[in-house]
Amino acid sequence: MLIKDASIMQDGKLLRDVNIAIEENRIVGIDPGLADGSSDGEVIDASGMLAIPGLINAHTHLAMTLFRGYADDMELMPWLEEKIWPLEAKLTSEDIHWGVKLGCLEMIRAGITCYNDMYYFMDETARATKEMGLRAFLSEVLFDMRPDIIATTEPFIKRWKEDDLIVPALGPHAVYTCSEETLLKSKEIAEKHDVMLHIHLSETRSEVESFAKNCGQSPVEYLDSLGFLSGRVIAAHCIWLSPKDISIIAERKVNVAHCSISNHKLASGIAPLDQLQMAGANICLGTDGASSNNSLNLFQEMKTTAIAQKCAHSRPDLFRAGEVWKMATENAYAAFRLDLGLRAGALADLALIDLKKPWFCPLTGDNIVSHLVYSAQGGVDTTIVGGRVLMRGGVIPGEEAILDRAQQQFQDLVTR
Ligand SMILES: [Zn+2]
Repeated sequence: MLIKDASIMQDGKLLRDVNIAIEENRIVGIDPGLADGSSDGEVIDASGMLAIPGLINAHTHLAMTLFRGYADDMELMPWLEEKIWPLEAKLTSEDIHWGVKLGCLEMIRAGITCYNDMYYFMDETARATKEMGLRAFLSEVLFDMRPDIIATTEPFIKRWKEDDLIVPALGPHAVYTCSEETLLKSKEIAEKHDVMLHIHLSETRSEVESFAKNCGQSPVEYLDSLGFLSGRVIAAHCIWLSPKDISIIAERKVNVAHCSISNHKLASGIAPLDQLQMAGANICLGTDGASSNNSLNLFQEMKTTAIAQKCAHSRPDLFRAGEVWKMATENAYAAFRLDLGLRAGALADLALIDLKKPWFCPLTGDNIVSHLVYSAQGGVDTTIVGGRVLMRGGVIPGEEAILDRAQQQFQDLVTR
């Protein structure tokens, strides 16, 4: 496949008329001079479009798209206890299938090519994701209330470990829902199979305060005392951190999945990203589930992250567009050990964005990153994962049928 006459970003500047050659699942050449003959014959005309490497959603619960708008404007614990958990108790694998497909549609439309999920029915999530063509890191959520699940994690890893799109992982929910035994067992399995660990960490003030009262430590200190923290950990939220927590996170090379919109909507707090960044922590961006966001859109997430951090510190010069862009791309590639980027040899996970939109005008040679972070409201025309075109010209085959089924599935779930 040849993507012809695209614009790309190089050191924050727009470089026009670049051809990108893809063979099988990888980019094999990227050069203005690449001839049509360097591909398998399929040509995508990308004139007037910007090619970006795929965005990574570092924390979500994808099937929660079915809960979008179901319960808003509530505090975290009553929201979970009164609304979300009772509905989750009724979930079937069919709900998951359509919720996941709905989520994939939304992410494909937003140029997201890979997501990191922790939820229920992960085999079904994997199948639905593969049908949609996205890449995903998937972990069945582990709670002590469901002690049977941990035994399913190794067979799940073995089933999916060799897959080209699905990467199995371990997902102990949080320190307040998992015992020391569950956390240690998760860590042991993750190390044995060399997979990632996905956990919620220090999301609310009350979680951290009650943990300190009961255990005399912060959740971060506690996990560190178990030897749980390492570069294979993706820790979602990380809002209520002490200076000591921040240095532990940086020292252990824990990857932070910052979920700005969810944190704001649930009024959980503003994460100390500046201190995490100063300490050298790797920060990525996640949307969290569509029940607390309510979108799965990293363009929104980038803008919110930047403006909230600037405001929190009264420093408009902090969290510049380029830094935030890196969180949704390069930082996440490093966290998930993904060989991604617009270069020869990298996996062909990318999106083409139509630059002929009001929010990209006026376009100069060097304001493209600013537009992507602060003004983009969509315009993703084409999304490609592993060399497979998932959307072209804004059309995703089968989208209407998925929307109809997801609608039906939600109605069935709430009346069940
Ligand atoms: Zn979450």
